[in-house]
This record gives sequence, structure tokens and C-alpha cells, in this order.
Amino acid sequence: MSQRTLRFLAGVTTNQKDKSQHSFQRSLLLGFAESFVAWLASTGISALLGIIVALAVNRYLRPGYLLSFSLGVLFWVFVDVINDSGDLDVNASFSGGWEQVVIVALFVIGISVFVSLDRTVFLPELDRSGSLAVPVLIALAIGVHGLGEGAAFANVAATTTSNSLVAAFGGEAAGAAYFLHKFLESMVVGAAYVVFAGKRIIGVQARAKDVGVLALAFVVPSVVAAGVGYFVAYDSTYFFAIGTGGFLYALLRLAGPAFTTQKAPGPNGTLKMAAWLIAGLLCVYAVALLHSYLPSTFS
Ligand SMILES: [Zn+2]
Repeated sequence: MSQRTLRFLAGVTTNQKDKSQHSFQRSLLLGFAESFVAWLASTGISALLGIIVALAVNRYLRPGYLLSFSLGVLFWVFVDVINDSGDLDVNASFSGGWEQVVIVALFVIGISVFVSLDRTVFLPELDRSGSLAVPVLIALAIGVHGLGEGAAFANVAATTTSNSLVAAFGGEAAGAAYFLHKFLESMVVGAAYVVFAGKRIIGVQARAKDVGVLALAFVVPSVVAAGVGYFVAYDSTYFFAIGTGGFLYALLRLAGPAFTTQKAPGPNGTLKMAAWLIAGLLCVYAVALLHSYLPSTFS
């Protein structure tokens, strides 16, 4: 599989490890407000839609299947994000210096922070008290790689020699791919809410408020990075290292309930779980194909 295909999340085709990006001329042909609002809208709307769709799907689909689908999404995106972190600089072997140490340390910090804040990651029983804490942690853990995506987008927006927003997103197909992959990621947040929210999910008003809180937790890292990254060029690799840790936490956290929400699903149920897991993987795969459909309009 090509690096090009795997890199669709960042929306960039330049090598993330290429430090020459710091010397890019900031052309600023594309205005800050224009690019920022487009980023905010595409990230925010896809996040809200993903969570709402997961809640709607929950009416017709068992939580175990929704979680299996989510695990499929997470597995693919985990690979994508570790790729965007330069595979934690593994190709440098023992010669990566402090930069390599920092990247690995950020990955370790990423997963350690979330696991230590949660503390129930490896417990077999679900916390059925209906707390929003775990879904918010999962929203943050998945959303934190948005620091890298936002920085990558803003860097392109500030340096593009075109004044087209579409160019900043890497072309029409890449823009659509960004929106759809955010939608799938936030569906995972919605699935976590379905499983961990307990009775909270019954009240319409409380549920609307919870959806807002979860979308905010998911979106804030992307939006902050897109705002800062327009004015300050920085290497998004480090943020993808933290994001890799975040995805690992989310995977661990949802894997347990995926297999315990149904008592003895039987051979058919097991097959269906595998099918939903594969469906999740293939959905992100299809979005990655979309990103690769047209050559990027920037370099
Ligand atoms: Zn992403």
C-alpha cells in the first residue's frame, strides 16, 4: 500500500518529516478567516453528523455490532496516524537523536495520559452508572490527532500559491475524504456514548447537550491547530505521535465492551461481528481511495 493512500488524514502529500516545510514561503493568498471557517465548518458538521448517525443506528443495531464497526474504523486510522507520525521515526534506527526520543516519548505520554485518566480500561465489567467521562475521554483521544491535521491544513492554506480553498484541502476528492473520515471517526465517539452513557441516553435534552459536549471535545484540537498553524509553521509529526497513543487507548477501551455487551452471541453473532469489523475497515478504505482519486493540486 502506498504512503500516498495512507496519508489521506493529514491532507498533505509532502513528507511530514521534511523539515524544509519550515522554510516555505507563507504566501497568505488564501485569507485566514476564509480557510479557518471552512475548516471549522467541515470538522464541526462532520463531527456532529457522525455522533448523531451513530445514535440513530443504535436503534436498529446491537451495540456489539456498532462497536465492531468502530473497531474496524479505529484499526485503519491507527495505522494511518502512526504512519503520519513517521512510524515513530523507526527508519532512523538508532540515529534519530533527540527528535526521535521526543516522538516516542509523545506517543508514550499520549497513551499513558488517557489510560491513567480512565483507570477502568482493563476491567471486564462496564461502568453502567451513565457517566459521560469515558465517552469524553474517547472523543479527546480520537480528536487529539486533529492537532496534526489542523496544523497540516493550515500550513498548506498559508503557503498555497492558489487562492482556492479546494486547493488547501488537496482537491475536491481530498476535501470530501477529509469530511467523510471525520464523520467515521466521530461515529466511533457516538458508539462510545451509546455504550457508556447508560440512562443518560434516554432524555432528549440531556442527550443533545451530551452530543454537543462530545463534538466539542473531538473538534477543539483540530480547530486550535488550524488557527495557530496558519501563522506559525510547525512539524505536525509530533502531534500525530500523541494521536497514535490516543487511538491505541480508544482501541483498547472499546475492544472490551465490543466482546462483552452480548452474552454468548453464537456462531452467527460472531460472524456478524467480524462482518461489521470488516465493514468499518472498508469504509475508511473507501474514503482513502477517494482521497487518492485525484492528484493533489498543491505540493
Ligand atoms: Zn483524522
